[in-house]
Amino acid sequence: MIYFANPGKRFLKNKTTETKIIKDVLVSNKYILGDNVKLFEKNFSKFIGSKYAVGVANATDAIELIMNNHNIKNNDEVITVSHTATGTISAIISCGATPVLNDIDDDYLFECKNLKNLVTKKTKAVVIVHIYGQACDFRSIINFCKKRKILIIEDVSQAHGSKIALKRSGNIGDYGVFSLYPTKNLGALGDGGIITMNSKSNFNKISMLRNYGWDSKNLTKINGRNSRLDELQAGILNFRLKKLDKDNLKRIKIAKLYNLKFKNLPIKLPKIGKNFSNVFHLYVIQTKKRSKLLAYLKKNRIFAGIHYEIPNHLHPAIKGKIRFKNLEKTTNISKNIVSLPIYPELSKNDQLKVINNVLNFFKRT
Ligand SMILES: *Cc1c(COP(=O)(O)O)cnc(C)c1O
Repeated sequence: MIYFANPGKRFLKNKTTETKIIKDVLVSNKYILGDNVKLFEKNFSKFIGSKYAVGVANATDAIELIMNNHNIKNNDEVITVSHTATGTISAIISCGATPVLNDIDDDYLFECKNLKNLVTKKTKAVVIVHIYGQACDFRSIINFCKKRKILIIEDVSQAHGSKIALKRSGNIGDYGVFSLYPTKNLGALGDGGIITMNSKSNFNKISMLRNYGWDSKNLTKINGRNSRLDELQAGILNFRLKKLDKDNLKRIKIAKLYNLKFKNLPIKLPKIGKNFSNVFHLYVIQTKKRSKLLAYLKKNRIFAGIHYEIPNHLHPAIKGKIRFKNLEKTTNISKNIVSLPIYPELSKNDQLKVINNVLNFFKRT
């Protein structure tokens, strides 16, 4: 069986080392907010190039914590895309704010030129999503947002290590938000998340908000909550972070091979880009024959995915809580997108199986 992602293989690849890391944490007597989390926050901010990082429980919480820190609530608006994981949008709704959904460009990314038509007096923040591993180049909107005091949050949950020009995604806006869910480019053994930022006061406040609002003397100075990254995950993540660039290069290599082999097929291929502008969290193509292709692959024990089958603006609990003008591209592509298997541990043999099956399918049809 070949799946579009396979976190088990990541563990098996370094089973001895990772098992030791787990055992060390288990006997350390310190499972929450200890040295591993501190070290991971330090290592991760260094990797991204940001001054600070705060480990949290997941990326959905990360977005909520940022909103809470800036008092974004009822009657406020936050602009983002419909074409993203549910968490991006549910976090905004949970704060009471209204998600204002922008359409995407031909590479599935936030259409920057629409921004000025979506901004109102209520706009408090923009969440840029670096989808499928692609860094969304949003530099053209930075000054516009600064002038209006609109916060820019980068959702880098699918693009850990990607770069815009020479800077890592997550270090260009006011905040970077990263999910560390097991299948992500940097993934834990369960849920996890981390937030990067360059402001010391935001760092201090978010560090408190994730831990009941306590200061260093456990005095509740602001009303917080519990959204912590745990020591076990941080220990594993410290080890996996060292391999992230190399792992991303493996993903890029697979994507290049797929693009080469598929270049004559009637499908839309993803852009490879340069210098880590795409770290291929997912390898997404578009085809009008999606359901037949998926069935054919499944029969041959290859399980492709769809990210995402139903756009967020059409989900029952989201529909009534958003505002948007035009989501034509988002809606159209949702019918044709397919995520083919891609992950650093995907063997050459399995890559060739995927390639041959896709080629055979289009030969037959
Ligand atoms: C995975 C993901 C999330 C949600 O992350 P969690 O850690 O599961 O909360 C948010 N945004 C994007 C773009 C994602 O891919």
